[in-house]
Amino acid sequence: MANREQDQSTETVGARHDALRALPSVGKLQDDPEIRAVGVALPPTRLTAIVAAELDAARTAILGGTLDGSAPRERVLRRLRLLLTPKLTPLINATGVILHTNLGRAPVSAATAAAMADASLAYTPLELDLATGGRGGRMAEIEALLGTLTGAAAALVVNNNAAATTLTLAALAAGHAVILSRGEAVEIGGGFRIPDVMRQSGATLVEVGTTNRTYARDYEAAIGSETAALLKVHSSNFRVIGFTHEATIAELAALGRQHALPLINDLGSGALRDTAAFGIGHEPTVGASVRDGAAVTLFSGDKLLGGPQSGIIVGDRAPIETIARHPLARAFRADKATLAGLAETLRHYLRGEELTTIPIWRMIAAPETVLRDRAAAWQATLAGAGIVATLAVTRSTVGGGSLPEETLPTCALAFDAPVLAARDLTPDGFAAALRAGDPAVVGRIADDRLLLDPRTVFLDDEAALLARLIALLGSASTEKTDP
Ligand SMILES: *Cc1c(COP(=O)(O)O)cnc(C)c1O
Repeated sequence: MANREQDQSTETVGARHDALRALPSVGKLQDDPEIRAVGVALPPTRLTAIVAAELDAARTAILGGTLDGSAPRERVLRRLRLLLTPKLTPLINATGVILHTNLGRAPVSAATAAAMADASLAYTPLELDLATGGRGGRMAEIEALLGTLTGAAAALVVNNNAAATTLTLAALAAGHAVILSRGEAVEIGGGFRIPDVMRQSGATLVEVGTTNRTYARDYEAAIGSETAALLKVHSSNFRVIGFTHEATIAELAALGRQHALPLINDLGSGALRDTAAFGIGHEPTVGASVRDGAAVTLFSGDKLLGGPQSGIIVGDRAPIETIARHPLARAFRADKATLAGLAETLRHYLRGEELTTIPIWRMIAAPETVLRDRAAAWQATLAGAGIVATLAVTRSTVGGGSLPEETLPTCALAFDAPVLAARDLTPDGFAAALRAGDPAVVGRIADDRLLLDPRTVFLDDEAALLARLIALLGSASTEKTDP
């Protein structure tokens, strides 16, 4: 018994020695033709350092008992590709989820992207008044645009709405109490929970009402000398239905005014136009929040606004000045590219052209008949290449934590399991193959078939999408699929 154990460990030690001895030298690896080709853009010293680091890691792995280090050449190639291949390149979103958090939420308009690139490539008068040569405000342009579009007197832009919420609570309520309905102490996702944010900002949460019903009088009963603000939070990613009641913004704003307390309204998505016009539910608009008297209204720039990632605070001048003066405002402030892009997105609304220029609004507004025609055209092109696909009447979703349960009718291209099986593919396998190529295509699996929803596919991407489908499924399939 003891002997056998000893034999085994001797064997292991022997195997390790063999594996260590088999490791190539740095110089030999660096001269490998494929490694040279992949690393051709790197200075030789950088390539040497990378090769040496991977050999070290291989050695450590062998000594640690995993023989994972036995393929150092593959390790180096993997590392070089990771370092040299940009990851955040465009892909085709055929999921039908318009604001897809994993896919970067809102794609911006061409004008927005151009403004962001221009501001990044050059100097800009970010804090300079060109007329006087004196210091200018970072927010003047955005404030004018948001003022015209929402009626708010003042505005401030930070990195995202999570930052806007944290900063607003810290500036207006640290060391004091904030009253919130029990039904709105929500988790938005990604670990962003309102009670935790409240704690981080130094404010004390006072929950009132019940999960399903909260009245203005519940807030009123909780107001005391410690109270600094009333807070309303959009439930965003869930919906309470049935026996429910919530106090309106107008009621809470009036209550706040009586007690000289600001009403903070975290809208989440913050639509500038009414979604109900498109056959989906009504998402509260920023304008209504301002009009109904919220002292500050918070919303994301990259949800239903359809602009760059940002957190937007609009409202009365006094609270917004207090927020802007808080030390965290500097830590959270938006950069010049974001401000330039956001201004461009807002100008689409100003000109009344958002339905044609802002991608997510174009997608929301796309009629089912148009989507059906697009899917049918894809189907016909594929049929010409001998590929069988069907049309599926299904639903697209808005996503991004807005309008939960709300869907839009669509017509998707469907690849049924039996059709895929004829090519030795499962729906999952086909989805993986679509993700692995260039451009990557992300579809949706439902009822054992793979669906591609035209609603979220840009017209400019249709040719590339069809080319990938033909390469993967056509009779003379040539596309290599990475395992
Ligand atoms: C999405 C959301 C947030 C967070 O916004 P980000 O821009 O993602 O940081 C905060 N509050 C509500 C109500 C939300 O829906």
